[in-house]
Amino acid sequence: MYDCHVHTNFSTDAVMDIRDAIRVSNKLGIGLIITDHMDYKHHIPNEFIFDPDEYFNEYEIYRSEKLLLGVEIGFRDDSLKEIRELKDNYPFDFIIGAIHVVNGIDIYYKEYYEGKSKEQAYEEYLKNMLLLVKHHDFFDSLAHMDYITRYSIYKDKGLYYKDFPDLIDEILKELLIADKAIEINTRWIHDKNTVDNFIIILKRFRELGGKYVTIGSDAHRPEDIGVNFDIAKEIVYVCDLKPVYYKGRKPYYVK
Ligand SMILES: [Zn+2]
Ligand SMILES: [Zn+2]
Repeated sequence: MYDCHVHTNFSTDAVMDIRDAIRVSNKLGIGLIITDHMDYKHHIPNEFIFDPDEYFNEYEIYRSEKLLLGVEIGFRDDSLKEIRELKDNYPFDFIIGAIHVVNGIDIYYKEYYEGKSKEQAYEEYLKNMLLLVKHHDFFDSLAHMDYITRYSIYKDKGLYYKDFPDLIDEILKELLIADKAIEINTRWIHDKNTVDNFIIILKRFRELGGKYVTIGSDAHRPEDIGVNFDIAKEIVYVCDLKPVYYKGRKPYYVK
């Protein structure tokens, strides 16, 4: 088993020494893929960005079968040049593609939702995700599809397949065309409603012919590594999907 989504001190919002991450993963008996944040042109200067030379210089000595080096790239279409240079010039094992910023605003902030109905806010978010997956050369797995449900301001925050079937189908089909994985992000799956909604989307992914999933805790602190993996395994089983991890940007089945 691998935790395929872990942030360490190179992520500006994480407090995790890589040695502590390794200690915890050894204790849990799982492998790790470090995926620090790289969000080019974030509206807060110097946030969610790191120096990839420093990252590889510092972390290369820890690299092993059980400790792989990846990155979580926040997609925006005006930074495709930087994103492609990053993936071409550095030997990442794994790249997660994520939507954190929509039309210039980080959807973590309530400003994104102000003056928008839930339908508008979620549709814009999913349209950006569709753009991301159409640029599928730079990533391996689509991060936290339900990210918006963590921070949106609406009473019912759920992302329902039935509300956007065409858009979600298009996203899933793009993933399939390029044989990409979808992530089960375990950080927020203690909530049954979130799990049930995501299972519907994952079953649709399976129905369309998809099979690869990556499982990641999105841990920003050592104690969150591997959190809720028991639930993730159940989801994988129920949806008949295959968990994979990536090394050298190639998928391998998780045992
Ligand atoms: Zn993320
Ligand atoms: Zn993350």
